[in-house]
Amino acid sequence: MAKKLFIPGPVEVHPDILQAMATQMIGHRMPEYAALHGRVTTGLKKLLSTEDRVFLATSSAFGVMEGAVRNLVSKRCVNFCNGAFSSKWHDVTLRCGKEADAVKVEWGQPITPELVDEALATGKYDSLTLIHNETSTGVMSPLPEIAAVLRKYPDVVSIIDTVSSMSAMPISLGELGIDCCIFGVQKAFALPPGLAVFTASEKALARARTVEGRGYYFDFLEFEANDAKNNTPSTPCISQIYAMDKQLERMFAEGLEQRWSRHREMAELVRGWVADRGYGFFAEEPYRSVTLTCAVNSRGTDLAALKKMLGERGYAFDDGYGKIKGKTFRIAHMGDMQRAGLDEFLGVIDSCLAELG
Ligand SMILES: *Cc1c(COP(=O)(O)O)cnc(C)c1O
Repeated sequence: MAKKLFIPGPVEVHPDILQAMATQMIGHRMPEYAALHGRVTTGLKKLLSTEDRVFLATSSAFGVMEGAVRNLVSKRCVNFCNGAFSSKWHDVTLRCGKEADAVKVEWGQPITPELVDEALATGKYDSLTLIHNETSTGVMSPLPEIAAVLRKYPDVVSIIDTVSSMSAMPISLGELGIDCCIFGVQKAFALPPGLAVFTASEKALARARTVEGRGYYFDFLEFEANDAKNNTPSTPCISQIYAMDKQLERMFAEGLEQRWSRHREMAELVRGWVADRGYGFFAEEPYRSVTLTCAVNSRGTDLAALKKMLGERGYAFDDGYGKIKGKTFRIAHMGDMQRAGLDEFLGVIDSCLAELG
């Protein structure tokens, strides 16, 4: 029996989605694919509130995170780092042979608009990477305030990862004016991994046209040319795109407002449990993530034992990421989860904690 997932990705996938993925194949150069592609990218534009191009890539998020750097960094990039994924992105930028600096804050801290302003005011950078919701630490940086700062620097191309936040809360790309927004689908979108979505503004595409060494697989200009025909450069993960088509239908049927408030309520439920049980929070308010809670193990619980016990009862539990493993634990509350499922999970944790003594 598969364990029920309460880890921050991949998360539980709804049976309707699994069923959609069992749809028979079509050829990606057939009109049936173009119709599917057009429907999905139109739905995504509505969800993201953007008129920019929306592209579908067959890879996990990091494929496009690397691709974006290869396409959009010309002179020098600043990578804002406040956790494992954002630090890795700096490493990836350097591995792509780009000039880049990391602006680092302690894990658990947000990236603030002041920090962004200070870095960009140096005039050294033509691009930046930033993670909206650092899944390793449960910290959500204030995107609208950061976007307001970015407007002061029209020559800088912004590359923003919303892997674990997109669809769980209002993020209007059109209003924010983000040049390239990237997300995978196995977190807040609650789909099986393998598809990544990204947007590109006119400014981003214009930049890509001037940058050498874009490669092929993630060349934004290849995506642009193919998307104009409702197509992709290479064979896409058609089953995942069927899944996305179904998921967009489900999201709009639930209603976006409802989806956002369900996420807020789930976050409050888990935060309440964490506080009641005497654990701490790795992130301070107002920077606590709406899609996962990173708790500080202030009770000194044997998290490895707890994880094992929960596993035996059929639940996947996360005992912290990277250098904060064992010191923190994370509970995901994203995607298609419901309060009832979280209540059940928290109840089982309680009974395990009682047993552990
Ligand atoms: C999971 C995650 C990633 C990495 O995604 P992959 O799909 O494993 O490449 C990147 N950024 C954030 C914020 C994530 O949560």
